[in-house]
Amino acid sequence: MNSPETHRLALLGGDPTVRTPLPTWPVLSDDEVAALGEHLRRARTDSTYLTSIFGSGPVVEFERAVADYFGAPYAVSTNSGWAALHTALVAVGVRPGDEVIVPAYTWPQSVSCVLQQGAIPVFADIDPETYTLTAETAEKCLSPATKAIVVVHLYGQPADMTRMMAFAEAHGLAVIEDCAQATGAMHRDRHVGTIGTVGCFSIGSGKQIVGGEGGFLLTSSEEVRHRAIAMSQHPQRHRVDLPGGYAVPDGFLPTYRMHPVAASICAAQLPKLRRWNDERIVNLRALSLALEGCPGIRPAAESTFGRHVYHLYCPTFVPEELPGLSRDRYVEALIAEGAPVRIGYVRTPLHLRKEMRERKYLAPGFPWNLGSRDVHYAAGDCPVTEDRCARTDISVFLGANAIGDQSALVGEIAAAFWKVARHHRELLEPAHSQR
Ligand SMILES: *Cc1c(COP(=O)(O)O)cnc(C)c1O
Repeated sequence: MNSPETHRLALLGGDPTVRTPLPTWPVLSDDEVAALGEHLRRARTDSTYLTSIFGSGPVVEFERAVADYFGAPYAVSTNSGWAALHTALVAVGVRPGDEVIVPAYTWPQSVSCVLQQGAIPVFADIDPETYTLTAETAEKCLSPATKAIVVVHLYGQPADMTRMMAFAEAHGLAVIEDCAQATGAMHRDRHVGTIGTVGCFSIGSGKQIVGGEGGFLLTSSEEVRHRAIAMSQHPQRHRVDLPGGYAVPDGFLPTYRMHPVAASICAAQLPKLRRWNDERIVNLRALSLALEGCPGIRPAAESTFGRHVYHLYCPTFVPEELPGLSRDRYVEALIAEGAPVRIGYVRTPLHLRKEMRERKYLAPGFPWNLGSRDVHYAAGDCPVTEDRCARTDISVFLGANAIGDQSALVGEIAAAFWKVARHHRELLEPAHSQR
């Protein structure tokens, strides 16, 4: 650290601070390879084994394993997190024209599942610390047409479910937990996904455990489970799982069945979930500690009621502490230092995206024309989300991949933030810093 180049910002010709490569994710050990081999060997002599049509084989074993692991009475597997969300909406009885409260700050698939059902999203604001919906923000969106709420445990941080459930129960609303980024997160002493009416998970490539692609839902309601199976699985499976002639839509179904290979890989990862999440927490708390007091950045918060399992690390830019420096320039300087950062994850609040402002999804006016009242979206609807997206959102690509000991990388990333903070004036007048 004594050459003059290490003291000069990399953006202005100095040496970059971060040299340790980002860890790769997912990690596939011999366990996953062995499990998959075993399943393929069994499929050689059982022609029905490698399909999820019949309600047997690796997919059903996986459903039992996740239900056990999370302490949920029932699990239903799907081929993506999005398919689990759509299935959940159908299973709790959301119909075309109903309204569903959703966050304006999330991955858009938390909302496209609502649109796909012909239901109307009503966007609620987030809590500035946890970036999740609250009972208070949701309450502002309530109307006689409200049927359900999609609560997203964004970046792995649990929303405040105690107050959310009280609010939902008071108004007879179903609660769908989008846990796609929060597998293994806890709300007080319960796993997220077991608190609402249904919990939906993804095992896609960047999530806490991975099957390649896939998803599943958890519920304690037998009726929801029946409706979820009836809606998402092959009619052959209905014979096994829906005894008593539960009304099924025959073959008029989407193909949402999970691939057995995904089930098999992910089942082998499940026993490692707790250790991996522990390691993520250690690594990212170390980053928070190292960023404490650094001008211009506020570390990602952890709530007092939840176990945050860090799908992504999202601190907050504080422009007031680095006067005159734009977030774009700040992020540009960090990237030049080799820091794995980018300007926020959401960028444009969902209610202000073109499709929402123009009320056009798949066809003009759809699904808003099915509603009982005119739902429109405008700037100012969700001020916390809008301000975060416009000025302060930042994300660090360290989260699901932060397993093992990442202290070297964490130290370098923190050093990059400190270096940019110390030298921020040079970014205001690049010519001046050449000396
Ligand atoms: C990944 C993700 C989804 C969708 O999961 P897929 O398995 O990719 O379909 C939904 N919601 C959130 C918040 C996600 O991060």
